[in-house]
Amino acid sequence: MKKIGIIGAMELEVEELKGKMDIRHTQEKASMEFLEGTLNGTEAVIVRSGIGKVNAALCTQILCDSFAVSHIINTGVAGSLKNEIDIGDIVVSTDALHHDVDVRVFGYPLGEVPQMGCLAFPADKHLTALAVSACKEVNPDINVYEGRVVSGDQFVSDKQVKDNIIANFQGFCVEMEGASIAHAAYLNHVPFVIIRAISDKADDSAEMDYPTFEKAAAAHSAALVEHMLPMI
Ligand code: SAH
Repeated sequence: MKKIGIIGAMELEVEELKGKMDIRHTQEKASMEFLEGTLNGTEAVIVRSGIGKVNAALCTQILCDSFAVSHIINTGVAGSLKNEIDIGDIVVSTDALHHDVDVRVFGYPLGEVPQMGCLAFPADKHLTALAVSACKEVNPDINVYEGRVVSGDQFVSDKQVKDNIIANFQGFCVEMEGASIAHAAYLNHVPFVIIRAISDKADDSAEMDYPTFEKAAAAHSAALVEHMLPMI
């Protein structure tokens, strides 16, 4: 049966979806509140994971083990890694990787977790395509991009750090959870997609822009998730 796990790191990334959900049951695990019910007529579990890679990976594993979700969607905000991707635009993942993993000393490419057999975790092509088309329908005035999401336990707000990440990984946006959700979903053989609206440019302006734009950006991403659910 189709049952979609929806993860947002922060409350503002999931609050609208929670408000629209027809909630049947609420359960707490690992200090996270999992809401089960239907959203836009589709079976779903919505949860706020908390910020960063450990919280996000734990949350994904619980969605797989305790809720047997068939698909995972991560909705939220991110810093842009491309000049043309502006605040408010949306990035839908093609794949995701950890920009803060470095085991080059044993011959692994920067970003690759040893013995995983892959550098980046591929998103589900069907979910990616659905998210892009849903975005065009629900947010026609916003540009949507398909590309790599890179994650690390670090808020990127320095041009030099940003430029290094771009040169090393060719990412479209940077955030703090997507790759660990992708990583956990990959190990559990659950299809996933990451949908991120741009809240800042991940450079020296990010400290100012992020608080100004996070709420509106998060709402764009959430609206798109709600719209695409019945099409999965
Ligand atoms: N305002 C929060 C902290 C936010 S951390 C507080 O004080 O509690 C930033 C969050 O937004 C993370 O969940 C991350 O995934 C995302 N994000 C947005 N822009 C980012 C950037 N430039 N670098 C890293 N993560 C970013």
